[in-house]
Order: sequence, then C-alpha cells, then structure tokens
Amino acid sequence: MRITVISGGVGGARFTRGLLALLADRLPDGHGGTTAQVTVVANTGDDMWLHGVRVCPDLDTLMYTLGGAVHEGQGWGRREESTTVSTDLAAYGLGWDWFTLGDLDLATHLARTELLRRGLPLHRVVEHLAARWRPGVRLLPMSDQEVETHVVTDDGTLHFEEWWVRHRAAVPARGFVQVGVEDARPAPGVLEALADADVVVVPPSNPVVSVGTVLGVPGVRDALRATAAPVVGVSPVIGGAPVRGMADACLTAIGVATDAAAVARHHGLRATGGVLDAWLVDDADADTVGPLRAEGWRVQAAPTLMTDVPATAALAARTLALVDRMP
Ligand code: GDP
Ligand code: CA
Repeated sequence: MRITVISGGVGGARFTRGLLALLADRLPDGHGGTTAQVTVVANTGDDMWLHGVRVCPDLDTLMYTLGGAVHEGQGWGRREESTTVSTDLAAYGLGWDWFTLGDLDLATHLARTELLRRGLPLHRVVEHLAARWRPGVRLLPMSDQEVETHVVTDDGTLHFEEWWVRHRAAVPARGFVQVGVEDARPAPGVLEALADADVVVVPPSNPVVSVGTVLGVPGVRDALRATAAPVVGVSPVIGGAPVRGMADACLTAIGVATDAAAVARHHGLRATGGVLDAWLVDDADADTVGPLRAEGWRVQAAPTLMTDVPATAALAARTLALVDRMP
C-alpha cells in the first residue's frame, strides 16, 4: 500500500499522524509501525533565510509532529523550547520581534544550513535531518530549488511569513507570487510518488499557499492528473471558516469563497481538468454533499476536526474509504 500526501504544515502533519496511527493498526509491521509506505510531499514556499540560516516551516512541522517532538499546543516548533539566542540577537538590534526563532529550532536550522552549504540538495538535507526524528514516512520537499511565496498588497510585496505572522494576514492580499517557480523542478521522487501511489491524499492543508504552492511546481499538477491512483481531498474549511489560522484571507485573495464546496470546485474534478476525484467535507457542511454529487463528485460528510490522534485516525479511515482504499 503506497500513499502519497501533499502537505503544508500543521493541518497536513496532524492528518498524516492520524493516517500513520490507522495504518499501524490495519497494516502493522510488528514493530509499532506499518508496512504501508507513506510519502509526504511538503510545501517549501514558506521557506526563508533568516540570520543566515534557512528556515523551512512546513518541513519542520511535519518532522517534529511525526517524530513526536512538536509543541502540541502550538502545533509547530519544538516542545520545551526557549528563545535565549533570539533575545540576545535583539540586543544587537537584529532579528524580527514577530518571528519566533527558538533555540532548539535554531539547531535544526543550523544543521540544515551547514548541509546546504556543503552542497547537498534540499531533499538530501531533509533525509539527513529526518533520520534523527524517524517520522515514519518518506518526507520530500516539493522541490530542491528555492521557491518563495510572496504576497501582493497595495503597499508592495512581502514574504508570506511576514504577511502571515507579522500582519496576521490582516493586510488585504491581492494575490500570491511563487518567486522562482519557473526554474523549479519537482524534487527527486516527487513525480514517482504521485505516479506509483495506490492513493493520493490532499489533507486539510491551506488550499492556496500550501497545496496550491506544491501544485504550482512545474510537472506536479500534470502528474496528479495523470496518476492511476484516486486522488481524495479533505476540506480545510468547516462551516464557512478555516478551523485554525487565517486561510480565509488566502482564499479571498484569489477570489474563492471560504466554503467547503467552493474549495472543492477550486481544486476541480480530474474528469473536468482539475486534480481531485473525491472530497470529504465536515458533517457541518452536509448540505454541500447533494450539489457536489450532482456535479460528479464522490463526496461524503464526516467529523473532520483533528482533535486528537484517534479522531484523526478515524478521519483518515473515512478518507481512504471514500475512494475504496481503506486497508
Ligand atoms: P500550515 O502550513 O501550518 O498553515 O498548515 P496547513 O497548510 O497544513 O494547514 C492549515 C489549514 O488546515 C488551516 O488553514 C485549516 O483550514 C486546516 N485545518 C487545521 N486544523 C484542522 C482540523 O482539525 N480539521 C480540518 N478539517 N481542517 C483543519
Ligand atoms: Ca505553511
């Protein structure tokens, strides 16, 4: 059983953790893991250079969440984290008071930067870092090339993280630019993971700046449209609101309503040129099931709040069952 997940940070990481729990139960390997192979293709559009180190927010959230090191309350970063170094940097008048650069996290960034400086491509760097955390999946960056999501506002363009974290997405966005994407190629293994999968899952990740960014890498959308595997998505919108974060601001910027059915139509049905075959919405959006079915979607309503690992494993089960891939 080969499952490929296209992921952003917190939403995708939590979903994948539940999926692994389900698979360990259904397809156990005898050592607490699973015989299923899960590949996660991660968004790297949020990555940036800060204090001379490369920061990869979504890759690290995946690594820490699946490796058991994440700060549960936050959903990102290391637990038992401190900020001694960034506080001291501020005494030099350096740093961004709006971006948390934790001490333990900084060790990850330093290690990553050192490996990049030695000339390793990002996917090899990720492999090296992940060897420590044993996330139980094959973790792939969407690309080895630097692609950065920038936000277009009336006052100019800024890095996605500055818009998201510093301005809490409150500055109206007119659109998003993937800087560098035209020169980017999918990282080694990405296209194969889509082509050879038994099922591809688009978890409840930000549809614009996480999933949309991965799909923007040349070749990825075509691979998704061509794969023989069913492609199933889970709505990141419940009852007209993003469950956490400000994803509604991203949807508004590209003219899509913050609504489970609108997000499905934005991704589109593969039969009509889109990227999905099936869509799982929350029970709160059960009224979208009828209209989407009439448009040819395979769609069901289920509890989609990822409150804990068992609830998320049950969500993963419903997701796989929707495309007849429940082991
Ligand atoms: P980020 O990179 O950390 O922003 O994380 P992702 O892109 O993976 O996912 C963030 C999105 O996941 C949020 O915008 C929410 O819409 C969605 N989300 C988060 N938690 C839940 C949940 O428990 N259930 C559902 N259905 N969606 C969620
Ligand atoms: Ca992110």
